[in-house]
Amino acid sequence: MRTSQDTYLHKGLRSKLVDSIRSKGITNESVLGALLSVPRHFFLDSAFEKQAYEDRAFPIGEDQTISQPYTVAYQTQLLDIRPFEKVLEVGTGSAYQACILAELKAKVYSIERQKKLYDSNKGFALLKQYPALRLFYGDGFEGLPTFAPFDKILITAAAPHIPDALLKQLKPGGCMVLPLDEGENQRMHRLIKLDNQSYVQEKFDEFSFVPMLVGKR
Ligand code: SAH
Repeated sequence: MRTSQDTYLHKGLRSKLVDSIRSKGITNESVLGALLSVPRHFFLDSAFEKQAYEDRAFPIGEDQTISQPYTVAYQTQLLDIRPFEKVLEVGTGSAYQACILAELKAKVYSIERQKKLYDSNKGFALLKQYPALRLFYGDGFEGLPTFAPFDKILITAAAPHIPDALLKQLKPGGCMVLPLDEGENQRMHRLIKLDNQSYVQEKFDEFSFVPMLVGKR
């Protein structure tokens, strides 16, 4: 069962979590503000409320996890979201990251390959607060050509390579943030698309994500 009560206790725990994420090196105040606003415990079963405010990933069923808050903050900071930008997210999962992007006033298109996870967000009342957030059932390797081009693209699962279709769906000048597989772990990468033929690539820290898998299920 989900809860929809956001008490002073929850707000206090959230504020401590944000302080700890700040102390780990996240400096973008809008990103930290979004983490302070979005009640992360709404995304977990009410039995795990306390865990919602620990800085770690947590199982959400179907062998998937809600990303660690620090990782969400890290990827969001790299994306450098501006209001009204069109953002494609691959791997909706719990929809927590999607709500953080929507809280930053992005127009969010988030895609999930697992029908059960996609369906579990259908009756999620909190999502109604974000009319600019749209969820899709599909394979992120293919992206959403109907809604392209996007200003920004975020992959929240370990990508084996840079998906070609996604690079095509990115606007020139836009960026894609993705954890690229290096065996055991993944290294965070940011690609900046210069034009239809070229991009530059920056490398950041190592993380551990669940795999990005081909096809729907
Ligand atoms: N952004 C999520 C993190 C979920 S974990 C959150 O905030 O909770 C990664 C998610 O990516 C999983 O739900 C997994 O099913 C999904 N995924 C993996 N490969 C995918 C693909 N090819 N297309 C879409 N989603 C994918």
